[in-house]
Amino acid sequence: MLTRFAPSPTGELHLGHAYSALLAHAAARGAGGRFRIRIDDIDGSRSREIYVAAALADLEWLGIDWDGDPVRQSARLDRYAAALDALRSRALVYPCFCTRADIAASLAAPHGPPDGPAGAAYPGTCRHLAESERRRRLESEPHCWRLDMAKAVATTGELAWEEEGQGARRAAPLAHGDVVLARKDAPASYHLASSLDDAAMGVSHVIRGADLIASTDVHRLLQALLDLPVPLYRHHGLVCGPNGKRLAKRDAAASLASLRAAGLDGRRLADDLLHGRLPTGFFLQNP
Ligand code: GLU
Repeated sequence: MLTRFAPSPTGELHLGHAYSALLAHAAARGAGGRFRIRIDDIDGSRSREIYVAAALADLEWLGIDWDGDPVRQSARLDRYAAALDALRSRALVYPCFCTRADIAASLAAPHGPPDGPAGAAYPGTCRHLAESERRRRLESEPHCWRLDMAKAVATTGELAWEEEGQGARRAAPLAHGDVVLARKDAPASYHLASSLDDAAMGVSHVIRGADLIASTDVHRLLQALLDLPVPLYRHHGLVCGPNGKRLAKRDAAASLASLRAAGLDGRRLADDLLHGRLPTGFFLQNP
């Protein structure tokens, strides 16, 4: 068994991250397996080195140990590029030149596409560009790369994953529309990088928050397209704060750094969280 915790170093970790990391760590250690850290620092404009160090210090404070060095997504850009090339050679991705404003305008049109799990799906404007126009614009215009979802789904057929303890879940990637696999400002999207990394790291169980369950539809599809192994999944409940909403990085009061500064004992907090006991005002919202 190998599990992982994969923070994005764009802010301080909070109680929700602690809960996720603890569940993944306890599952691995309880089974005599391995636990690894991955730093999801693909977004160079938002990632900060100071948050990498802070996250590792928070995990240590909770009593979490990990195997090997943390994996850095920023060190794996060539793998993401190679996977994108493979999809490009099968014509499963296409360049998209739309700006946010272009997309907003077509979504506002009377017959815009229905909402996908992550908001309105891309209306497909650039999917049908003539090859000559595509080539000309590729040379001069900023672009991202999108998956041709209908074509991809037709290639793989029906897919499912195993949700631990709950049996098979049918993947429904079509509703996501043509997701971005490589961004204008970052060489891979979360979906592409995460699917490739989980496979390369040998992750057997992906344990993460229920807020990411919709992403699993897309990850399962990418696994099929790129011939990657399929891990088992567990999407756990989310920690919510006194306002009833799930925690966000801006909720400073729930940050592990502030709890530590207030004198809390990290290992006791870890034990409490693992037993479903949350600090006053916080609660767990089960999926
Ligand atoms: N870096 C992602 C996040 O913080 C991790 C997602 C995952 O566990 O797959 O949301």
